[in-house]
Amino acid sequence: MRKKIVAGNWKMNKNLAETESLLSGLKENVGGISGAEIIVAPTFTNLSKTTQELKSTNIKVAAQNMHQAENGAFTGEISADMLKSIDVEIVILGHSERRAYFGETDQLLAEKVNTALKHNMTVIFCFGEELQDRKSNGHFSVVENQLKNGLFHIDASAWKNIVLAYEPVWAIGTGETASPDQAQEMHAFIRATIGKAFNEEIADEVSILYGGSVKPNNAKEIFAKPDVDGGLIGGASLDAESFGTIAKAI
Ligand code: PGA
Repeated sequence: MRKKIVAGNWKMNKNLAETESLLSGLKENVGGISGAEIIVAPTFTNLSKTTQELKSTNIKVAAQNMHQAENGAFTGEISADMLKSIDVEIVILGHSERRAYFGETDQLLAEKVNTALKHNMTVIFCFGEELQDRKSNGHFSVVENQLKNGLFHIDASAWKNIVLAYEPVWAIGTGETASPDQAQEMHAFIRATIGKAFNEEIADEVSILYGGSVKPNNAKEIFAKPDVDGGLIGGASLDAESFGTIAKAI
């Protein structure tokens, strides 16, 4: 049985006081959920507080990014060892905002993936096509290339530490979601691609999340699709009640 996961990506939102209030709301709204693994990804400055607050709960904590080097002269960056030292074992890599605004390439992401795996972290690997790719019917090949270049160099044994998040760029923060059928079609394609490159067992076991304007009112029909194993939630994860409703939709 594949793991179901609902993860909240808070992006550059919530200062410390706001984080504390969201965390207490989360304990109330998703505290008892057992049908899915729940993950939240606050900004770096609030990670330590969040891991402490959520220590004895079912909610896990992820970082939104990480540098590929072990340490050294990289002003402003955060290493895997720093994250692990505050009990953060999960990292989101390859989010489309990192790719678009911070120039993260597939090659760089491959290095980041290696560093995270070396530290035995779980990677939530994000990828997805832009609107023009879909309009020109290039979305399958874009997604296939992102996977091949960023991820397919890993050992078969490392897949247990990988979660995939398919996030069509045109659906992120836009209020426009992929239809449940579009999500299912792409998730099935992703699984088949992994099956060919690795094997059926790995393809069958990897959790593939959908991300892009998942909201309380559309989560259920998206999560109902057989190859959608949960969601990576942006805007709607900033409100504990909305995030709770989405997590319960699984
Ligand atoms: P959204 O963001 O839910 O606000 O569209 C999703 C994401 O970027 O992970």
